[in-house]
Amino acid sequence: MSQFLANHMKTMKPYTPGHQPKKGEYIKLNTNENPFPPPPEVSEIMSESAKSLHLYSDTNCKLLTDTFAEHYQISPESVIFANGSDEILAFCYMAFCDSDKGMCFPSISYGFYPVYADLFNIDGKKIPLNPDLTISPDHYFNQDHHIVIANPNAPTGIALTLSQIEEILVHNPKNVVIIDEAYVHFGGESAMKLTETYQNLIVCGTFSKSRNLAGGRLGYAVAHPSLLADLNLVKFSFNPYNVNTLTQALGVASIKNDRYFQHCTQSVVKTRRYFIDSFDKLGFHTLPSCANFIFTKHHDRDGAFLFEKLKEHKILVRHFDQEPINQYLRITIGTQEEMAVVVQKMTQILEENHA
Ligand SMILES: *Cc1c(COP(=O)(O)O)cnc(C)c1O
Repeated sequence: MSQFLANHMKTMKPYTPGHQPKKGEYIKLNTNENPFPPPPEVSEIMSESAKSLHLYSDTNCKLLTDTFAEHYQISPESVIFANGSDEILAFCYMAFCDSDKGMCFPSISYGFYPVYADLFNIDGKKIPLNPDLTISPDHYFNQDHHIVIANPNAPTGIALTLSQIEEILVHNPKNVVIIDEAYVHFGGESAMKLTETYQNLIVCGTFSKSRNLAGGRLGYAVAHPSLLADLNLVKFSFNPYNVNTLTQALGVASIKNDRYFQHCTQSVVKTRRYFIDSFDKLGFHTLPSCANFIFTKHHDRDGAFLFEKLKEHKILVRHFDQEPINQYLRITIGTQEEMAVVVQKMTQILEENHA
């Protein structure tokens, strides 16, 4: 740290990304990426759009916006894109939070929510989960903060229903409510359509998980145009060219190849069923997941121990060393073949290490 670092940054704890090992070293189930590569046509699309890289990217992402709006049957005025949904979230904090009003979020949720509160020097208020790790909508009624909730939540995988989200919206007319739908395509219900009714709702999402493009960095926000004008005010005051030309082209290709998208998401959902059933038989209790990962604990074996053992067997999952979730493992759903290996290795680990 230098002597020049701003005061509020001195105690800052940054977000810790999941470990990204060398390719092939591990079965990598620690960062909720899609196990399948992007659709095959991307290489051709990349080399075609590379020809215009001497020009700045389109600040309005026109083609991507129109393609997305048509696909999801919404108005092109009600969607914007950014460099990952992390950037959308950052824009929201910058646009809406100040020293009078911060952001609240579930105490156990996406790691960036509290990090952004610290970064932008605003109050981050944690709302506890229920003992069964579900979210109670009424804990969010009439808040004195703006609200961000991941739905399905991470790392639990548990989803709220649309009517529960509507209750939160109705009880917060003075607050912006951000619903982060990073995992919605694996079994949640999207609140996108509710943005036509509620002018305090922002639905954000990403191409990183269900659209196989984590390395492309593409996220979106769907909301009433007045809210998007606020986010655009931030974007055009910060980095107007935030979505590069190649990524815009990738996004269009991803939306157009709906068959591939359906194939990948359905395959993950099917493998999730197989994996939860197999882990049940090994003595695990798994929360009901609507996401491309599961959150699970063994009835008598320690979470940190199992994490280390899996790592020895070259399987990388995520373990959070914090109460009340330190007995759980968060395991991304990979391919059927990968998950069969995890079941086999876990069977072996449990046999070799009697409680
Ligand atoms: C992965 C994730 C994001 C970030 O997505 P990017 O588009 O890759 O920045 C946002 N929210 C949640 C809950 C996530 O799990």
